[in-house]
Amino acid sequence: MYKVFLSLGSNLGDRENNLMEAIKKIKDMDEIKLTKVSNIYETEPVGYLEQGRFLNMAIKLLTKLAPLELLNKLQAVENLLMRTREIHWGPRTIDIDILMIDNLKMDTKELTVPHPRMLERAFVLVPLMELTEEGDFEGDISEYIDNCKDKNGVVLYKKFEDVVQD
Ligand code: ATP
Ligand code: CA
Ligand code: CA
Repeated sequence: MYKVFLSLGSNLGDRENNLMEAIKKIKDMDEIKLTKVSNIYETEPVGYLEQGRFLNMAIKLLTKLAPLELLNKLQAVENLLMRTREIHWGPRTIDIDILMIDNLKMDTKELTVPHPRMLERAFVLVPLMELTEEGDFEGDISEYIDNCKDKNGVVLYKKFEDVVQD
């Protein structure tokens, strides 16, 4: 079994519902056991600034799926939620990034893990920090967050327990 951390983001349409729908679809997969979910954060866009704020969160799961199989399944979820790719780093209903798969390091055309830009993104690290335990992450996440340019643009939006789930 691989232990996997994902980052989810949405800044188009009903952002909270997009996150919940994505998580539901991930949770419903036979090959995936969802084990932990972070709170939801509202974050200023980074990279392409002319767009609305994002909601971001992180989740932890266990799976037997091989890394590329997992990526394909997650991309299918993005497609189901009408994700389109028009502007690089632009607005999207949902973005699902694989942050870490155990201590695996890989760098292929389709998939790079750990995610190559995660350490410079407070909107990724702040929710991730709620989920990691000793040994999941090399180093001190809070130190990386401190060095992120976007750290002041990340605020708690909703506790996950306050999210109404059907
Ligand atoms: P960023 O990767 O900087 O967060 P993005 O999420 O906007 O940018 P996308 O357009 O969603 O980028 O993805 C482009 C491609 O990145 C995907 O088609 C996928 O093959 C590839 N990719 C490489 N590594 C990963 C990863 N760790 N998680 C998700 N996709 C990845
Ligand atoms: Ca991304
Ligand atoms: Ca992505």
